[in-house]
Amino acid sequence: MIEEEKKHAKYAPSTGKRWTNCSKCIQLCENLPESETSIYAATGTVQHAVAELLLQDRKKGRNKIASAYDYVGEVFEEADFEIKITENMADAIDGYLDLIAQDLAKLGLAYNNLDIEKQVRLDGVSADCYGTADAIIHQDFGKLTIYDEKYGQNIVEAKDNTQLIIYLIGASILYPDCDTFEVVIYQPYAKRPSGPIGRWAVCKDDLLLYRERLRMAIKECESDDAKFVTGPWCKWCPGATEQVCTALADDIYKTVIDDFSNAPAVLTAANPAKIVSALEKVPMIMQWCTAVKEYANRIAENGDLPGYKMVEKYGNRKWKNEDAALDALSQMYGADAYNKKLKSPAQAEKLFGKGKKGKYEFNLEMGSYVEIPMTGKTLVKCDDIRLAVKDSVKEDFKAIPKLVKELDI
Ligand code: SF4
Repeated sequence: MIEEEKKHAKYAPSTGKRWTNCSKCIQLCENLPESETSIYAATGTVQHAVAELLLQDRKKGRNKIASAYDYVGEVFEEADFEIKITENMADAIDGYLDLIAQDLAKLGLAYNNLDIEKQVRLDGVSADCYGTADAIIHQDFGKLTIYDEKYGQNIVEAKDNTQLIIYLIGASILYPDCDTFEVVIYQPYAKRPSGPIGRWAVCKDDLLLYRERLRMAIKECESDDAKFVTGPWCKWCPGATEQVCTALADDIYKTVIDDFSNAPAVLTAANPAKIVSALEKVPMIMQWCTAVKEYANRIAENGDLPGYKMVEKYGNRKWKNEDAALDALSQMYGADAYNKKLKSPAQAEKLFGKGKKGKYEFNLEMGSYVEIPMTGKTLVKCDDIRLAVKDSVKEDFKAIPKLVKELDI
């Protein structure tokens, strides 16, 4: 382990979206096992740890230009995984260090105004609500900013983000003289149209309102009136992954029976509201189906699942020994034994050297040869921050009545 295990709070900020929506989940999940760490989560944890080491170096004045490239090739153990720092990971971490350095410079502050991996608590709201902010910049009688690194690919909104609001309220208790507030999400791998950084400013009055809402939410979680409320927040809930939440199972069963059993009628009934209602349940149903399969696999691995058995899975054919196969094939077919393939832009970029210098040289020499193709459209909710694609077919049809009138046909 690269760091001591952090004890999770009962009202952890990272699960805040869940317990502020479904007040019953805390009671249901109290004794359920934590979900297993995936390699993606372990990789993110290692990136956080390297960023922390580098920021500490900068703060202590040991190495003011410390870069994650110093760690490329190093292997860290996290959960059951060995994670090797790659150039791509180093780039992502350096982007975070640059963000902190630039924000400090903009405010005219130094690294002693930066807290790194700082525990914040919601004192006065609940002793069981606390967490660790990746970074906090505090300006005396001025601005308070909290930073959150997220190394996943899904865009996470900074605005109204419960996890970040909890960190911000906790930080505001530590620095009560601050009077303007901002949360910043850094997501190097997410395709956010505005870039890897999401920002959201919130005023003091709104922060107090959020604090009161959190207090009420925790009160409800603790009460006999706690209620199950299903929604997108069920995704990582142990109640869903352990298949013990009957509310979720009922909701899915009802949706599948009521809405989908009659799907062709739904789709042809020109009833957009019904389609939207069914569409919103699709991720939850898919998640539930995945959880059912994983749960069934676990039972079958450890014992019996009536009517099912575990069997070996087979992958694609591969050479037992690539050198020996190449020798034999090239003797028979010469150059036809090989596939000669142009390197991808990402692979070719490495030919130009490491880090920002390599990227710069690559863009200079090869930028005009590179394009980012669109691979299709995807349906998202209107509050998604990406711009809507202009539907050319719809536009063309809009023009028809005008054309008909003009041509008098
Ligand atoms: S699965 Fe959803 S409804 Fe059930 S306890 Fe968890 S958050 Fe609540």
